[in-house]
Amino acid sequence: MNSSQPQRRRPTEFAVRWPNRGAMVRQALSQSLPWFAFVNISFALLIALRDRLFDHYDDSLVTHQTLIPVVESGVYLVIAASLLLLMTVWRGQHHLSMLSLTLLTLIGVIWAFNCYCFAVYWQLPLTYPLSVILLLTAVAAFYFYPGGLLCFMLPLWLAVPFASVQLNQGINHRFAIMWLIFTVILIYGRYILLRWFNEAWQRYEQNQLLISRLDMLAHQDVLTGTANRRALENHLSQAITQQRPFSLIMLDVDYFKRYNDHYGHQAGDECLAAVAEVLKEAVRTPEDVVARYGGEEFVVMLVDATVAQAETVAARIQQSFQRRALPHATSDAAAYVTASMGIARAAPGLTAEAIIALADKALYRAKERGRNCWVS
Ligand code: GH3
Ligand code: MG
Ligand code: MG
Repeated sequence: MNSSQPQRRRPTEFAVRWPNRGAMVRQALSQSLPWFAFVNISFALLIALRDRLFDHYDDSLVTHQTLIPVVESGVYLVIAASLLLLMTVWRGQHHLSMLSLTLLTLIGVIWAFNCYCFAVYWQLPLTYPLSVILLLTAVAAFYFYPGGLLCFMLPLWLAVPFASVQLNQGINHRFAIMWLIFTVILIYGRYILLRWFNEAWQRYEQNQLLISRLDMLAHQDVLTGTANRRALENHLSQAITQQRPFSLIMLDVDYFKRYNDHYGHQAGDECLAAVAEVLKEAVRTPEDVVARYGGEEFVVMLVDATVAQAETVAARIQQSFQRRALPHATSDAAAYVTASMGIARAAPGLTAEAIIALADKALYRAKERGRNCWVS
């Protein structure tokens, strides 16, 4: 195998957006975390600024006064933890880190405690809408991230029925049924959302596969399975931009028109495929490129090769033709299929076209010298 098989090309031409599903989860998280933090901060501010927001609210009227500072501190902690979550997004650390999980757990536990106090000690009517909205927000924000979802939801989801048991001195069946139905809504909702997420990931994967197949086809020569001219040009310009030295062998099959005339076009095609096999076997590293340049002309690009090393490869190609001895009855060069080769080496300041032109000139001289040879 060598890089003349275009699937070995470096995938530089189309960017891979998500190398795996985890990367897609991370991007989704970076989009939903700010919204989740916004909802949490909004509710926390609503409670912190209750005196100013609700006309007839007065802390001195409620029981369990000692709990007020505890709940209040919790609310400020929620704001701080939400801001920290936002910072992990801004700093690009929105991965599934322990920090995010800890912050989500902390926020969940604080809301669980506060909602418990609201329900049991102060019987505030806002407890249930607050907990329901928070739980639904978590599902919408983290349905694709089960760890974060559980860390946030579990404390609150447990605290509300626990508060109901405390409040009613036992199980309130109507509440139990409602909480059960709400739980089914949460689980079913998450399932539906997750199905869309997974479907999007699968479609993305299929598209990537399709793109890489099309990319491969666009850079492959169908007849010989080598790189085509476009792929060769990409390799050449890449090597030139990276200032990587290389040598080129330009190869032309001798008396190929006569071969076609004598054996037929179909046999000519098979002969070209055999020539490609010879070249693929002759290259040295998987980085070397065998390309069909056009018609019965091929180019072998030898990365990091000196002219002497390129000549060694040319000698190997010539020996291989001799060994294979594909009959060519009408050739004046030999009784079998042969090729002439021109060798050129990349030099600073030379464009890809200039290097190819040098190799072409050398090839022309090889033809002049009687074919079945190479000129550097
Ligand atoms: P020279 O030794 O000077 O290279 O002579 P030549 O006959 O090989 O060169 P010429 O350029 O005169 O002929 C090349 C021939 O290659 C002509 C064309 O029909 C044939 N050819 C080009 N592409 C294909 C192909 O895909 N399949 C087949 N079977 N023949 C092809
Ligand atoms: Mg030719
Ligand atoms: Mg020819």
